Amino acid sequence: MLKEYAKKRDFKKTSEPKPKAAKSQPDSQIFVIQKHDATHLHYDLRLEINGVLKSWAIPKEPPVIPGIKRLAIETEDHPLEYASFEGTIPKGQYGAGTVSIWDKGELKVEKSGGSEILFELSGSRMKGSYALVKTGFGAQKNSWLFFKLR
Ligand code: MN
Repeated sequence: MLKEYAKKRDFKKTSEPKPKAAKSQPDSQIFVIQKHDATHLHYDLRLEINGVLKSWAIPKEPPVIPGIKRLAIETEDHPLEYASFEGTIPKGQYGAGTVSIWDKGELKVEKSGGSEILFELSGSRMKGSYALVKTGFGAQKNSWLFFKLR
């Protein structure tokens, strides 16, 4: 669902892609991690699931080795085209700051649904099996933990 994505942005002012849902290619999913230097520097993890990029904001550098657990805050779905977006979001716009691609590559989702997503990443920095586990409820309902599996 890209409604929330559209609502937060003025596409006359930002060069980010306009919302458009795509059909997933069954055997070639992608992931991207964008370094986003906004009010607070963070990393946006995006996984192609059901034709959109499911998204999480990670306040610290993503885990490249097992044993590190990162907080990941679920954010609004992004259009698939966002995976190649790099540039500057102008002042006054949602997420104002610079976006650069930190890593990207192939995604294989092993398990998804409910409060756990298990997947494999083949990027330059992120390689191997990963998990996202939903930990939040109530006011923190968007909180997940993101970590590499052994
Ligand atoms: Mn962001």
